[in-house]
Amino acid sequence: MTAVILDGRAMGAEIRSELRDEVRHYVQQRGQAPGLAIVDVSGDGASAVYSRAILRIAEDVAVSARLEHLPALTPPDELRCRLLQLNEDEATQGIIVQMPLPAHLSQKMVADSISARKDIDGISTSSAGNLFLGLPSFLPSTAAAVMEILERSKTVLAGRRVVIVGRSNVVGKPLALMLLQKNATVTVCHSHTTNLAALTRQAEVLIVAVGRASMITAEMVRPGATVIDVGINTRPQGGIVGDVDFASVREVAGALTPTPGGVGPLTNVMLLKQCVQAAWQ
Ligand code: NAP
Repeated sequence: MTAVILDGRAMGAEIRSELRDEVRHYVQQRGQAPGLAIVDVSGDGASAVYSRAILRIAEDVAVSARLEHLPALTPPDELRCRLLQLNEDEATQGIIVQMPLPAHLSQKMVADSISARKDIDGISTSSAGNLFLGLPSFLPSTAAAVMEILERSKTVLAGRRVVIVGRSNVVGKPLALMLLQKNATVTVCHSHTTNLAALTRQAEVLIVAVGRASMITAEMVRPGATVIDVGINTRPQGGIVGDVDFASVREVAGALTPTPGGVGPLTNVMLLKQCVQAAWQ
């Protein structure tokens, strides 16, 4: 068997085209484009790259996005004050704060300061609580990207066995809750799981978000399974690979996301999609 490749770039282009139409409609109705504020206090090179990537997609779908650089030594009160101002700003419908933060700033303070209405990356306790209760909520964008791939590829979830490897707050845990809502039977594995392969081999849908290059090999995959690789690992010789050994697993799986070109390209698109949803709300 050779797996169907689930092409995140193609899906991303499709969603961007849908968003362009939706934003056009929004502007006709409301007279202004949805607004996105990206706050960057980290000053680190990687977050500048992420911010530019989000700005490019925003421009493509005609969301009005702006990047605010704050000095790395910004006091906690000042950052909180700026976030509270953005909560009240009528031209801003979505707020993202780039991570990682400098050591003196707490992620919890940031998450508690962004209004749930504008929390388009689903980082607040209120968003997490709503997700837990099965109420409408913004989702962490990577988890939302995985769900979007499953939906667009028409992967059946109800009654099926889904195994997630990784239990982070931004990927594994929110995915487990979303998949339960879709009536899947969900198993979450982590670094203390014993006999991981015995569990992954039971998965009809296998989602891997660990951060260990090529750790999932063909013997760990049930023939015909849908495999979603969230991992991004930089190779010493350059380039990136996922957590799934693509070459061997594609011979066993029924469907598989590549890395690069799978979940990654959808993550920022989902941020913009949630920003447009926030604007309508
Ligand atoms: P994380 O916070 O470091 O969590 C990694 C998870 O993997 C933890 O739950 C950890 O278990 C588990 N784990 C570690 N070693 C394991 C092992 N040997 N067997 C089973 N589980 C193991 O990572 P993350 O933020 O979720 O990210 C995971 C990967 O996805 C990374 O490669 C990251 O770069 C990538 N990522 C991609 C995107 C995207 O846009 N595509 C976005 C975010 C992240 P414990 O909880 O027990 O420590």
